[in-house]
Amino acid sequence: MTKDILNKTILLLFAVPMSAAAQNHQLPTLNYKYADLEPHIDAMTMEIHYTKHHQAYVTNLNKAIEGTDLVKLDIKELMLDISKYSPAVRNNGGGHFNHTLFWNILSPNAKKSPEGELLKKINETFGSLDELKKQLNQAGATRFGSGWAWLVLTKDGKLVVSSSPNQDNPLMDVADVRGFPILGIDVWEHAYYLKYQNKRPDYLEAIWNVLDWKKVEENYEKAKSCKLFEKM
Ligand code: MN
Repeated sequence: MTKDILNKTILLLFAVPMSAAAQNHQLPTLNYKYADLEPHIDAMTMEIHYTKHHQAYVTNLNKAIEGTDLVKLDIKELMLDISKYSPAVRNNGGGHFNHTLFWNILSPNAKKSPEGELLKKINETFGSLDELKKQLNQAGATRFGSGWAWLVLTKDGKLVVSSSPNQDNPLMDVADVRGFPILGIDVWEHAYYLKYQNKRPDYLEAIWNVLDWKKVEENYEKAKSCKLFEKM
């Protein structure tokens, strides 16, 4: 009996580091402090959103894929055939991808407008940057319940505004508009309720103050050569 327990203990000691070595998803590092996006996004919202909500998506995603082949996929690849997997993978995997993108395009020193090729494409597609912002705000404001508003680069090279429910996103095979999201805005109440309460449109107006177009430009460049389009 004692020997059995000892064997199990030894097994456990080896098993823990081995499963940790498999591809575990992790909370990304924030490039700014919780209070840095004030007054547009308040520190408490940032802290709860990042340490509780996003952390829960990461923890629950890792639980949902533990012991399956899905641990081999990176987070973007995992999104592609999402309809084949459990709701836990869809909700928590989506939550992890979406929030990682969201934190990355926010900044206290946001570049207020894109330039170069992305600006040209925005002007050609939407008429102006202001018109694009208007359409994104509209997509976010009219998304019933919880979800996201997106600027998507589609497989055929078009920029399209869309929205999705819950933690779905444009990479997923269930998306209305499929493609690579280069900008995403979280319109779940947890993203704005402490400061804006029911006034989602006010939050959507304010967010442009901390929306960093430099990061959106980088996402656009990455999206253009994205190998994932071949699998869509
Ligand atoms: Mn959120």
